[in-house]
Amino acid sequence: MRFLRRTRSEAGTKDLIYARLEEAMERPECPICLLLTKAERGLIEEILYEHVQDPAVRKQLRSSLGLCPYHAWLLHDISLSRPEMNGLGVTIIYEDMLSTYLEALTSGEEQESKVGSGPCIVCEHVMEFEVGYVEAFAERAVRTDLLATYEESPSVLCIRHYRAVRDALKEVGGEATEVLERLKAIQGRKIESLIKLMREYVRKQDYRVKEEITAEEARAWRVALHVLKGGRNSPSILSYKIPKPKRGILAKLSRRKRG
Ligand SMILES: [Zn+2]
Ligand SMILES: [Zn+2]
Repeated sequence: MRFLRRTRSEAGTKDLIYARLEEAMERPECPICLLLTKAERGLIEEILYEHVQDPAVRKQLRSSLGLCPYHAWLLHDISLSRPEMNGLGVTIIYEDMLSTYLEALTSGEEQESKVGSGPCIVCEHVMEFEVGYVEAFAERAVRTDLLATYEESPSVLCIRHYRAVRDALKEVGGEATEVLERLKAIQGRKIESLIKLMREYVRKQDYRVKEEITAEEARAWRVALHVLKGGRNSPSILSYKIPKPKRGILAKLSRRKRG
């Protein structure tokens, strides 16, 4: 899919990916969850706007009978939010999916049982994006000032993505070990300050306390949810394990350091 190719080719240029991460860090959320949510929606929009009649994409869609349940319903929501689509693209796609199912149903029990058991293409691409963003974060933490930007920002990596970046840095070793120590310290300080904000919020509930509750204190519990569970709409709530970096920029960096 073009969306994916575009992002991959840009992965080598520091500025664009750095800028994306930096922009995502402007919000009190996990920057990787945020970027994944955008990428996931972009993939679905691309299917709806550009690939409705694409035979290769259609074939992949048939293998899962039209995406996994989570992404099929996301596609539903995106379609409804775009009145200009008029339901045409989704009708064409899901008529084909239902016809594919009917053919299997009438062909015998074995065919009926097998149809639709293939992988969801959006899940597959999201997983690649996730590995890519984790690698990009780790790699830029080593060779740019990304960690300083992260430290200054209101964003907090969710546990899942902290662990993934940690594992990626561990893979690299050497200089990255110090970077990991720094990341761990920053992560700890961010979580500590969130806990403080939440305690202040609770303390100020007492009618004898006259201090105003700040906006930061009021939203702290929601940021805590982001940290503990990932972004609300983030595909990171999917339960697959993030694969280890193998071919990406970080792997190259790692080979360079070992060699
Ligand atoms: Zn996350
Ligand atoms: Zn899916």
